[in-house]
Amino acid sequence: MSAAYPMQATVRDRLIDACFLGPYGENDTLLEKLVVEFLRDHVYWRRNFHPEDPPAISTAAARDPEYAAFEARMRRELHLLSAALKKSVPFHSPRYLGHMVSDLLLPGLAAQMLTLPYNPNNVSEDAAPVTVDMEVQAGLQLARMIGYPHEPGQPDCAFGHLTSGGTVANYQALRVALALKAFPVALRAAAPPGIELPPDDWTAFNQSGSETVALLQRWNDWLAALPAKQQEEWRERVEAQRVETLGLAGFFAAHRELQVPRVLAPITAHYSWSKGLKLLGLGRDQLELLPTRGMRLDAAALEESLQRHLRERQPVLMAVAVLGSTEYGTIDPVDAVLAARARTRQQGLDFQVHVDAAWGGYLATLFRAEDGSQRPYGEVAAEYSQFPRAEVYAAFAALADTDSVTVDPHKLGYLPYGAGAFVCRDHRAMALVAERADYVFHAGSRSDYLQRYRNLGQFILEGSKSGASAAAVYVAHKVLPLDHSHFGRLPRATIRAAEAFYARALRFAAEQATRVQVAVPFAPDSNLVCVALNPLGNSSVSVANAFTRTLHDAVRCDPQQPLQLKEFFGSATTLRFDMFGAADTSRILSALGLVFASADTDHLVILRHTLMNPYLIDAENNISYIDAYFDYLARCVSALCGHAPMVAV
Ligand SMILES: *Cc1c(COP(=O)(O)O)cnc(C)c1O
Repeated sequence: MSAAYPMQATVRDRLIDACFLGPYGENDTLLEKLVVEFLRDHVYWRRNFHPEDPPAISTAAARDPEYAAFEARMRRELHLLSAALKKSVPFHSPRYLGHMVSDLLLPGLAAQMLTLPYNPNNVSEDAAPVTVDMEVQAGLQLARMIGYPHEPGQPDCAFGHLTSGGTVANYQALRVALALKAFPVALRAAAPPGIELPPDDWTAFNQSGSETVALLQRWNDWLAALPAKQQEEWRERVEAQRVETLGLAGFFAAHRELQVPRVLAPITAHYSWSKGLKLLGLGRDQLELLPTRGMRLDAAALEESLQRHLRERQPVLMAVAVLGSTEYGTIDPVDAVLAARARTRQQGLDFQVHVDAAWGGYLATLFRAEDGSQRPYGEVAAEYSQFPRAEVYAAFAALADTDSVTVDPHKLGYLPYGAGAFVCRDHRAMALVAERADYVFHAGSRSDYLQRYRNLGQFILEGSKSGASAAAVYVAHKVLPLDHSHFGRLPRATIRAAEAFYARALRFAAEQATRVQVAVPFAPDSNLVCVALNPLGNSSVSVANAFTRTLHDAVRCDPQQPLQLKEFFGSATTLRFDMFGAADTSRILSALGLVFASADTDHLVILRHTLMNPYLIDAENNISYIDAYFDYLARCVSALCGHAPMVAV
């Protein structure tokens, strides 16, 4: 074990030993016992439903030739499947440093496996009397992690639900934002007498989320006081004006002074945002991608863009801050986005602030004390050598004041696919996306809240969906509560591993100085570290790219090759110069000995490493897979540098 590592990285956390099946399948007996125990339990359940009913399948059935042939075919196909799956990517291995996935948490895996034969459908409580509540509870668990109100008795309690992934959660965020912005405009158009309404469409479209919720409540109260028949009439009149009824074309044709709103996001935003704008019918043109500094949203550019929107009276639907960018793990200044909104709000331009924390959401556990409070900076920082930068701490502290968040349990939550989540700070906004318009809702108690969301299908994009997945998320969060002393120990191990990796990368750069120039393009914000390389003496960016692509080929999934021939798995990404910005680009290119003027391409290929595996530093056996990876990279580099000059691709 190298002394260059931060000491903490070498101390093994015993809790983590119990969390996973393990790289070697170390916890096989535990998982096997659980699977058998709960399968038997399921069978007892079937037998005890109506024990007076005789078995429908006789024991003689198994002797029938057709039965036997079926069983043989099934076994054959299952064996083929099992054999084929051996080509899978070994996500569980500490030699896997590629994408945003690792081993699965045992409580989640076991909960999912044990729930599968019950096959609950979380579209509604009729099809999932047990797991639909678990999904709503999982939403509250995530809300607590984020810092949103999470007591269902509170009128402004948050609401969260699971999705197939971050893509659909981001789309749900767009849908909720549009509903919130457009509702006051619809209400103005219907003009129910005696309700105080915004004076014009621009003001109506620029209400804050809480102003819209308050308006919704006033409208509810007004409606509730009417006789049933009039209630119905007024409800229909308002429905007829809503964007959800008219569509974008009809709505904006009816309100000519309003332009179609824009969505502002950093250029590092995931491509699900482009998909979302297309799907919502706003069109990809309404997605304005803002420049970054060091791959973090440039707050000054956001200010500038907002001022331009104000001048042009161009509404903004939402500003997106990315908490852990997919390619670089960088963390946007959520606090600065909120501050920018506070300023434009004064000037009459308002919008929703959504945080795309599909990747970094669970890092919030590092900052959450057991009692739910925010941990002080010094206490968090004492556990690491560099993490968290002050800006990163401020971004997490600001989460509580945002409007909605996307988090992916199937990424840093170590849970099976597909489990994403959308969390909305004030659940009352959800009334506006309900499929059956039902505004009149006064949550008085925990049970009212839970009862309302048992009809989950009313509020979500999906229809039928897995209750087993909800059980997995809920149970994992119960076993490992979402605070720093429970779940937080997993991301803590990964951040420490990333710090060790970063330190090792810098040493690698020094060791390799006679062969390649190596640089870490930006200090990691969390647990994703990128490394850029260029063979010594080369100044052409495309030659450097060809070199890095060849290195990447050595660590990428190759279905033609036996898995065991792979030493390590990594990934690659590109730094697009227009995204990275001129200053950062010239800094990184000169660190690599590359010449900007000769840049015959608009991007630099870099290696990308996701440090999610909790067993990267195996103190037990005195192995560091981080060291081993850099040793391997050194061998690849030396093999490559011995070859003829690289050709550009
Ligand atoms: C992964 C990711 C998404 C998309 O999530 P899926 O679960 O793959 O649909 C969106 N945003 C960010 C920042 C991500 O990292």
